[in-house]
Amino acid sequence: MDCIFCKIVEGSIPSKKVFENERIIAFHDIQPAAPIHILIIPKKHIPTMNDVAAEDDALIAEIFSVARQIAKEQGVDESGYRLVNNCNAEGGQVVYHLHVHLLGGKKLSGLAG
Ligand code: C5P
Repeated sequence: MDCIFCKIVEGSIPSKKVFENERIIAFHDIQPAAPIHILIIPKKHIPTMNDVAAEDDALIAEIFSVARQIAKEQGVDESGYRLVNNCNAEGGQVVYHLHVHLLGGKKLSGLAG
């Protein structure tokens, strides 16, 4: 499959991983938009938020659980952080493999920039 995040999951493209289990990986974004910018992705190839099925409920909940854990490890749980999912073209999605951006380390603004 020609998906850059599937290749990161496989390990054929390197990434700076901060978390991995059987279902999820998280790694530093290569073009950080904030001092802390980590992507949390399912290993399963789900193209967009629209493709999430009822059977994925536990996986989506776990992605948020992992995000909480990473925010704490990165020291931004108290100062604050933002979780973002971009869906399809007008949502700003570039990579069509579901991912949640964890952004923090500065005062964030411009939600709909
Ligand atoms: O939500 P969206 O699809 O726009 O975000 C994709 C993100 O994936 C971008 O922030 C981009 O910098 C990141 N990326 C990455 N490593 C790659 C390719 C893209 O961290 N090899």
